[in-house]
Amino acid sequence: MNKVLELEEVSRTFSSGVFRTHTVRAVDRVSFALERGKTFGLVGNSGCGKTTLSRMITRVLKPSGGRIRFEGEDIARLDRKGSRAYHRRVQIIFQNPEASQDPSMRIRDSLLESMAIHRLGESREERMEKIRAALGQVGLPNPELVAKRYPHTMSGGQRQRVMIAMAMACNPKILFADEPTTALDVTMQAQILDLMNHLKEKRGTSILLITHDLGVVAKMADRIAVMYAGKIVEYGDARQVFYRPSHPYTWGLLGAMPNLIQDVKSELYAIPGTPPDLYAPPKGCAFAARCPYAMEACLKEDPPEFACGQGHGSRCWLLDPRAPDVTPPEGIPPLPKGGSDHV
Ligand code: SF4
Repeated sequence: MNKVLELEEVSRTFSSGVFRTHTVRAVDRVSFALERGKTFGLVGNSGCGKTTLSRMITRVLKPSGGRIRFEGEDIARLDRKGSRAYHRRVQIIFQNPEASQDPSMRIRDSLLESMAIHRLGESREERMEKIRAALGQVGLPNPELVAKRYPHTMSGGQRQRVMIAMAMACNPKILFADEPTTALDVTMQAQILDLMNHLKEKRGTSILLITHDLGVVAKMADRIAVMYAGKIVEYGDARQVFYRPSHPYTWGLLGAMPNLIQDVKSELYAIPGTPPDLYAPPKGCAFAARCPYAMEACLKEDPPEFACGQGHGSRCWLLDPRAPDVTPPEGIPPLPKGGSDHV
Protein backbone atom coordinates (compact mmCIF):
# COMPACT_ATOMS: atom_id res chain seq x y z
CA MET A 1 0.00 0.00 0.00
CA ASN A 2 1.42 3.32 -1.03
CA LYS A 3 -0.88 5.54 1.02
CA VAL A 4 0.27 5.71 4.59
CA LEU A 5 -2.36 8.19 5.80
CA GLU A 6 -5.76 8.85 4.22
CA LEU A 7 -8.37 11.40 5.19
CA GLU A 8 -11.81 10.88 3.77
CA GLU A 9 -14.39 13.66 4.11
CA VAL A 10 -13.16 14.57 7.60
CA SER A 11 -15.18 17.24 9.42
CA ARG A 12 -15.16 18.73 12.89
CA THR A 13 -17.89 20.85 14.42
CA PHE A 14 -17.71 22.67 17.77
CA SER A 15 -20.64 23.89 19.83
CA SER A 16 -20.53 26.88 22.14
CA GLY A 17 -22.78 29.19 24.13
CA VAL A 18 -24.72 28.45 27.32
CA PHE A 19 -27.08 26.05 25.57
CA ARG A 20 -24.47 24.86 23.07
CA THR A 21 -26.63 26.32 20.35
CA HIS A 22 -23.88 28.04 18.38
CA THR A 23 -22.00 25.70 16.13
CA VAL A 24 -18.94 26.26 14.07
CA ARG A 25 -17.65 23.90 11.43
CA ALA A 26 -13.89 24.28 11.81
CA VAL A 27 -13.03 21.54 9.32
CA ASP A 28 -15.39 20.73 6.50
CA ARG A 29 -15.15 17.47 4.51
CA VAL A 30 -11.40 17.43 4.06
CA SER A 31 -9.91 14.59 2.00
CA PHE A 32 -6.30 13.92 1.07
CA ALA A 33 -3.71 11.15 1.15
CA LEU A 34 -0.10 11.09 2.26
CA GLU A 35 2.06 8.67 0.31
CA ARG A 36 4.94 6.65 1.65
CA GLY A 37 8.23 8.56 1.57
CA LYS A 38 6.59 11.77 0.31
CA THR A 39 5.90 15.18 1.80
CA PHE A 40 2.39 16.64 1.86
CA GLY A 41 2.11 20.36 2.61
CA LEU A 42 -1.07 21.78 4.10
CA VAL A 43 -1.10 25.56 3.70
CA GLY A 44 -3.46 28.21 4.98
CA ASN A 45 -3.87 31.29 7.15
CA SER A 46 -4.36 31.18 10.93
CA GLY A 47 -7.84 29.93 11.81
CA CYS A 48 -8.39 28.02 8.56
CA GLY A 49 -8.68 24.68 10.36
CA LYS A 50 -5.11 23.36 10.07
CA THR A 51 -4.65 22.93 13.81
CA THR A 52 -8.04 21.28 14.32
CA LEU A 53 -7.16 18.89 11.53
CA SER A 54 -3.79 18.12 13.09
CA ARG A 55 -5.49 17.43 16.44
CA MET A 56 -7.78 14.93 14.78
CA ILE A 57 -4.87 13.21 13.04
CA THR A 58 -3.02 12.96 16.34
CA ARG A 59 -6.22 11.68 18.07
CA VAL A 60 -6.47 14.61 20.46
CA LEU A 61 -9.89 15.33 18.94
CA LYS A 62 -12.43 13.01 17.38
CA PRO A 63 -13.78 13.91 13.96
CA SER A 64 -17.50 14.75 13.82
CA GLY A 65 -17.64 13.03 10.47
CA GLY A 66 -15.49 11.16 7.98
CA ARG A 67 -12.61 8.76 8.46
CA ILE A 68 -8.86 8.91 9.04
CA ARG A 69 -6.96 5.77 8.04
CA PHE A 70 -3.40 4.89 8.91
CA GLU A 71 -2.05 2.12 6.68
CA GLY A 72 -5.64 1.25 5.79
CA GLU A 73 -6.90 1.07 9.38
CA ASP A 74 -9.48 3.49 10.77
CA ILE A 75 -7.69 5.26 13.67
CA ALA A 76 -11.01 5.71 15.52
CA ARG A 77 -11.19 1.91 15.93
CA LEU A 78 -7.71 1.32 17.31
CA ASP A 79 -7.56 -0.56 20.60
CA ARG A 80 -5.09 0.39 23.35
CA LYS A 81 -2.22 -1.52 21.79
CA GLY A 82 -3.00 -0.20 18.32
CA SER A 83 -3.27 3.30 19.69
CA ARG A 84 0.17 3.09 21.33
CA ALA A 85 1.67 1.78 18.10
CA TYR A 86 -0.01 4.60 16.16
CA HIS A 87 1.43 7.24 18.48
CA ARG A 88 4.87 5.75 18.00
CA ARG A 89 4.47 5.61 14.23
CA VAL A 90 3.20 9.18 13.92
CA GLN A 91 5.64 11.54 15.59
CA ILE A 92 5.07 15.26 15.94
CA ILE A 93 7.36 18.26 15.82
CA PHE A 94 5.76 21.42 17.13
CA GLN A 95 6.34 25.04 16.27
CA ASN A 96 7.74 25.91 19.64
CA PRO A 97 10.31 23.38 20.86
CA GLU A 98 10.63 25.02 24.28
CA ALA A 99 6.90 24.58 24.92
CA SER A 100 7.21 20.84 24.32
CA GLN A 101 10.36 20.25 26.37
CA ASP A 102 10.34 20.08 30.15
CA PRO A 103 12.78 22.79 31.32
CA SER A 104 13.54 20.86 34.53
CA MET A 105 14.71 17.75 32.68
CA ARG A 106 18.00 17.12 30.96
CA ILE A 107 17.68 16.25 27.26
CA ARG A 108 18.81 12.72 28.08
CA ASP A 109 16.04 12.23 30.65
CA SER A 110 13.31 13.57 28.34
CA LEU A 111 14.47 11.23 25.62
CA LEU A 112 14.72 8.27 27.99
CA GLU A 113 11.20 8.94 29.22
CA SER A 114 9.83 9.16 25.70
CA MET A 115 11.57 5.92 24.72
CA ALA A 116 10.27 4.16 27.83
CA ILE A 117 6.69 5.28 26.99
CA HIS A 118 7.11 3.87 23.50
CA ARG A 119 8.86 0.76 24.88
CA LEU A 120 11.93 1.24 22.76
CA GLY A 121 15.14 -0.49 23.83
CA GLU A 122 15.59 -3.21 26.40
CA SER A 123 17.88 -1.49 28.87
CA ARG A 124 18.91 2.02 29.82
CA GLU A 125 22.28 1.51 28.14
CA GLU A 126 20.61 0.40 24.92
CA ARG A 127 18.35 3.47 25.05
CA MET A 128 21.31 5.76 25.73
CA GLU A 129 23.04 4.26 22.70
CA LYS A 130 19.99 5.08 20.54
CA ILE A 131 19.83 8.60 22.01
CA ARG A 132 23.47 9.33 21.19
CA ALA A 133 22.95 7.99 17.66
CA ALA A 134 19.75 10.07 17.17
CA LEU A 135 21.40 13.29 18.44
CA GLY A 136 24.36 12.66 16.13
CA GLN A 137 22.07 12.04 13.14
CA VAL A 138 20.42 15.43 13.51
CA GLY A 139 23.80 17.12 13.33
CA LEU A 140 24.30 18.02 16.99
CA PRO A 141 28.04 17.89 17.71
CA ASN A 142 29.14 15.94 20.78
CA PRO A 143 25.87 14.05 21.48
CA GLU A 144 27.22 12.83 24.80
CA LEU A 145 27.47 16.40 26.07
CA VAL A 146 24.18 17.52 24.48
CA ALA A 147 22.35 14.69 26.27
CA LYS A 148 23.42 16.16 29.62
CA ARG A 149 22.23 19.69 28.87
CA TYR A 150 18.99 21.38 29.89
CA PRO A 151 16.80 22.83 27.09
CA HIS A 152 17.26 26.45 28.26
CA THR A 153 21.01 26.25 27.64
CA MET A 154 20.43 25.57 23.94
CA SER A 155 19.45 27.77 20.97
CA GLY A 156 16.04 27.48 19.23
CA GLY A 157 17.60 25.59 16.33
CA GLN A 158 19.37 23.14 18.63
CA ARG A 159 16.16 22.53 20.57
CA GLN A 160 14.28 21.86 17.34
CA ARG A 161 17.00 19.38 16.34
CA VAL A 162 16.49 17.64 19.68
CA MET A 163 12.75 17.44 18.93
CA ILE A 164 13.50 15.88 15.55
CA ALA A 165 15.96 13.45 17.18
CA MET A 166 13.29 12.54 19.74
CA ALA A 167 10.78 11.89 16.95
CA MET A 168 13.18 9.97 14.72
CA ALA A 169 14.35 7.76 17.61
CA CYS A 170 10.89 6.16 17.45
CA ASN A 171 11.49 5.24 13.80
CA PRO A 172 8.17 6.80 12.72
CA LYS A 173 6.29 6.19 9.49
CA ILE A 174 5.05 9.78 9.54
CA LEU A 175 6.80 12.87 10.77
CA PHE A 176 4.08 15.38 11.46
CA ALA A 177 5.57 18.87 11.43
CA ASP A 178 3.25 21.65 12.63
CA GLU A 179 4.88 24.98 11.69
CA PRO A 180 8.31 23.48 12.49
CA THR A 181 10.37 26.52 11.55
CA THR A 182 8.13 29.48 12.44
CA ALA A 183 10.06 30.27 15.62
CA LEU A 184 13.47 30.07 13.91
CA ASP A 185 15.55 32.56 11.97
CA VAL A 186 15.90 31.99 8.22
CA THR A 187 19.35 30.36 8.37
CA MET A 188 18.25 27.90 11.01
CA GLN A 189 14.97 27.38 9.13
CA ALA A 190 16.87 26.27 6.01
CA GLN A 191 19.05 23.92 8.06
CA ILE A 192 16.07 22.29 9.79
CA LEU A 193 14.22 21.82 6.48
CA ASP A 194 17.35 20.29 4.90
CA LEU A 195 17.64 17.97 7.87
CA MET A 196 14.01 16.84 7.56
CA ASN A 197 14.47 16.22 3.83
CA HIS A 198 17.66 14.28 4.50
CA LEU A 199 15.98 12.07 7.11
CA LYS A 200 13.02 11.49 4.80
CA GLU A 201 15.27 10.33 1.99
CA LYS A 202 17.46 8.20 4.21
CA ARG A 203 14.65 6.48 6.11
CA GLY A 204 11.68 6.72 3.73
CA THR A 205 9.61 8.57 6.36
CA SER A 206 6.56 10.46 5.07
CA ILE A 207 6.21 14.07 6.17
CA LEU A 208 2.97 15.91 6.80
CA LEU A 209 3.85 19.56 6.92
CA ILE A 210 1.43 22.15 8.23
CA THR A 211 2.40 25.74 7.60
CA HIS A 212 1.27 29.19 6.55
CA ASP A 213 4.57 29.70 4.73
CA LEU A 214 4.53 28.96 1.00
CA GLY A 215 8.33 29.27 0.90
CA VAL A 216 8.59 26.29 3.25
CA VAL A 217 6.25 24.08 1.21
CA ALA A 218 8.05 25.10 -2.02
CA LYS A 219 11.23 23.64 -0.57
CA MET A 220 9.68 20.52 0.92
CA ALA A 221 6.36 19.34 -0.51
CA ASP A 222 5.57 16.85 -3.25
CA ARG A 223 1.86 17.56 -2.97
CA ILE A 224 0.07 20.58 -1.54
CA ALA A 225 -3.41 21.40 -0.31
CA VAL A 226 -4.49 25.00 0.30
CA MET A 227 -7.08 25.46 3.06
CA TYR A 228 -9.46 28.33 3.55
CA ALA A 229 -12.30 28.60 6.09
CA GLY A 230 -12.14 24.91 6.99
CA LYS A 231 -12.07 23.55 3.43
CA ILE A 232 -9.43 22.54 0.96
CA VAL A 233 -9.88 25.04 -1.86
CA GLU A 234 -7.04 23.82 -4.09
CA TYR A 235 -4.81 20.75 -4.18
CA GLY A 236 -2.26 19.31 -6.55
CA ASP A 237 1.41 18.51 -7.10
CA ALA A 238 3.77 21.23 -5.94
CA ARG A 239 4.50 22.23 -9.57
CA GLN A 240 0.80 22.50 -10.39
CA VAL A 241 0.00 24.64 -7.37
CA PHE A 242 3.02 26.91 -7.84
CA TYR A 243 3.07 27.18 -11.65
CA ARG A 244 -0.58 26.66 -12.62
CA PRO A 245 -2.54 27.80 -9.54
CA SER A 246 -6.26 27.90 -10.23
CA HIS A 247 -7.87 29.49 -7.19
CA PRO A 248 -7.89 33.24 -6.46
CA TYR A 249 -6.92 32.58 -2.83
CA THR A 250 -3.80 30.69 -3.99
CA TRP A 251 -3.09 33.58 -6.38
CA GLY A 252 -3.31 35.94 -3.41
CA LEU A 253 -0.97 33.81 -1.28
CA LEU A 254 1.58 33.60 -4.09
CA GLY A 255 1.28 37.34 -4.75
CA ALA A 256 1.95 38.05 -1.07
CA MET A 257 5.31 36.24 -1.15
CA PRO A 258 8.25 38.65 -1.24
CA ASN A 259 10.61 38.14 -4.16
CA LEU A 260 14.15 39.23 -4.93
CA ILE A 261 13.39 41.17 -8.11
CA GLN A 262 10.75 43.31 -6.47
CA ASP A 263 11.40 47.04 -6.13
CA VAL A 264 12.47 47.48 -2.50
CA LYS A 265 10.34 50.61 -2.21
CA SER A 266 7.15 48.92 -3.41
CA GLU A 267 4.64 47.76 -0.84
CA LEU A 268 4.18 44.05 -0.21
CA TYR A 269 0.87 42.77 -1.50
CA ALA A 270 -1.68 41.66 1.11
CA ILE A 271 -5.00 39.94 0.41
CA PRO A 272 -7.65 42.53 1.34
CA GLY A 273 -10.17 41.84 4.10
CA THR A 274 -10.23 39.12 6.73
CA PRO A 275 -11.36 35.47 6.76
CA PRO A 276 -15.09 34.95 7.39
CA ASP A 277 -16.59 34.38 10.82
CA LEU A 278 -17.28 30.66 10.85
CA TYR A 279 -20.05 31.12 13.44
CA ALA A 280 -21.96 32.89 10.69
CA PRO A 281 -20.45 31.56 7.48
CA PRO A 282 -21.41 33.38 4.30
CA LYS A 283 -23.69 31.76 1.77
CA GLY A 284 -21.79 30.69 -1.31
CA CYS A 285 -18.00 30.86 -1.59
CA ALA A 286 -16.30 31.72 1.73
CA PHE A 287 -13.65 33.74 -0.12
CA ALA A 288 -16.17 35.89 -2.06
CA ALA A 289 -15.90 39.00 0.14
CA ARG A 290 -12.15 39.19 -0.54
CA CYS A 291 -12.12 37.95 -4.12
CA PRO A 292 -11.72 40.46 -6.95
CA TYR A 293 -13.27 37.93 -9.39
CA ALA A 294 -16.45 37.21 -7.39
CA MET A 295 -19.56 36.76 -9.53
CA GLU A 296 -23.22 36.45 -8.72
CA ALA A 297 -22.99 32.65 -8.62
CA CYS A 298 -20.23 32.89 -6.00
CA LEU A 299 -22.57 34.60 -3.54
CA LYS A 300 -25.33 32.04 -4.00
CA GLU A 301 -23.69 28.64 -4.00
CA ASP A 302 -20.54 27.14 -2.60
CA PRO A 303 -18.39 26.03 -5.55
CA PRO A 304 -17.87 22.29 -6.01
CA GLU A 305 -14.48 20.81 -6.84
CA PHE A 306 -13.43 21.17 -10.45
CA ALA A 307 -10.65 19.13 -12.01
CA CYS A 308 -8.05 21.33 -13.65
CA GLY A 309 -5.31 18.82 -14.41
CA GLN A 310 -4.34 15.32 -13.43
CA GLY A 311 -4.49 15.14 -9.64
CA HIS A 312 -5.13 18.89 -9.55
CA GLY A 313 -8.43 20.31 -8.34
CA SER A 314 -9.90 23.60 -7.23
CA ARG A 315 -13.12 24.88 -5.68
CA CYS A 316 -13.81 27.96 -7.75
CA TRP A 317 -16.67 28.88 -10.04
CA LEU A 318 -14.19 30.41 -12.49
CA LEU A 319 -13.41 26.86 -13.64
CA ASP A 320 -17.00 26.23 -14.61
CA PRO A 321 -17.29 26.18 -18.42
CA ARG A 322 -20.08 28.80 -18.18
CA ALA A 323 -17.90 31.29 -16.26
CA PRO A 324 -16.54 34.35 -18.10
CA ASP A 325 -12.85 34.46 -19.03
CA VAL A 326 -10.77 36.37 -16.51
CA THR A 327 -7.19 37.54 -16.60
CA PRO A 328 -5.22 36.04 -13.71
CA PRO A 329 -2.50 38.11 -12.00
CA GLU A 330 0.77 38.61 -13.88
CA GLY A 331 2.85 35.44 -14.33
CA ILE A 332 -0.06 33.05 -13.80
CA PRO A 333 -1.24 31.09 -16.88
CA PRO A 334 -4.89 31.30 -17.97
CA LEU A 335 -7.33 28.97 -16.27
CA PRO A 336 -8.22 25.73 -18.07
CA LYS A 337 -11.63 26.34 -19.65
CA GLY A 338 -14.30 24.32 -21.31
CA GLY A 339 -13.35 20.73 -20.55
CA SER A 340 -13.32 21.03 -16.77
CA ASP A 341 -15.61 18.64 -14.97
CA HIS A 342 -16.68 18.44 -11.40
CA VAL A 343 -14.41 16.04 -9.55
FE1 SF4 B 1 -13.67 34.04 -6.17
FE2 SF4 B 1 -16.01 33.06 -6.96
FE3 SF4 B 1 -13.84 31.60 -7.18
FE4 SF4 B 1 -14.87 32.10 -4.81
S1 SF4 B 1 -15.82 30.91 -6.43
S2 SF4 B 1 -12.74 32.19 -5.34
S3 SF4 B 1 -15.60 34.18 -5.07
S4 SF4 B 1 -14.29 33.51 -8.25
